[in-house]
Amino acid sequence: MGEIAEHLKEIRERIAQAAARGGRDPEEVRLVAVSKTKPAAAVAEAFACGQTIFGENYVQELVAKQPELPGGLCWHFIGSLQSNKVRQIAGKVDLIHSVDRLSLAREIDRQWGALGKACDILVQVNISREETKGGTSSEELIGLVRELAQLPHLRVKGLMTMPPFFDDPEGARPYFRKLRELADEVRRAGIPGVEMRELSMGMSGDFEAAIEEGATLVRVGSALFGERHYH
Ligand SMILES: *Cc1c(COP(=O)(O)O)cnc(C)c1O
Repeated sequence: MGEIAEHLKEIRERIAQAAARGGRDPEEVRLVAVSKTKPAAAVAEAFACGQTIFGENYVQELVAKQPELPGGLCWHFIGSLQSNKVRQIAGKVDLIHSVDRLSLAREIDRQWGALGKACDILVQVNISREETKGGTSSEELIGLVRELAQLPHLRVKGLMTMPPFFDDPEGARPYFRKLRELADEVRRAGIPGVEMRELSMGMSGDFEAAIEEGATLVRVGSALFGERHYH
């Protein structure tokens, strides 16, 4: 078995165990394989092992990699996104995890609308208010969701967050719990057309805690593909 196949098997087992600990159906948790900086060959290898969802952070990299791979893959955009780059990924991704402002949402709405399609999105929340991270504040979340609900080519499916870095995954747990509570709040607001079925939270170091707290999408990169080397 290759390294990626082995890691994938291990991660799937850990997902199932975390779901069991959280009293959840493991089928509710989907793995997003974060393939940023990794070659198409690595993605193809994971795909051959049954992994179907891949997460990319950079527009340039996504549009270069995608044509090298089969059509059956499902691509998620998870990185910070500039409005002027939306057009390049319009119709090419199945979910954008990182919508955090109305101006960006309007551009997504415009570009998907031009294709006669609608784009599924998650609203990224910056719970810790770290300046280096994207995301709307918890306080502004419901107001933003109300605005997004007005856009005809955008469908709000849930929330995403990236907690501050902790060596101990338990440090991230309160942020995961808070995201779940925020989703409950949005749900209670009963905004027409808005679904809160997805919680995108948890990465290589803390996905198990995230699953115990309700994650439906975990974004795992280095634990699957190995350390990233930036150049
Ligand atoms: C890179 C990245 C990940 C994956 O991080 P790992 O620690 O390698 O699992 C997840 N989410 C986002 C938004 C990322 O940018």
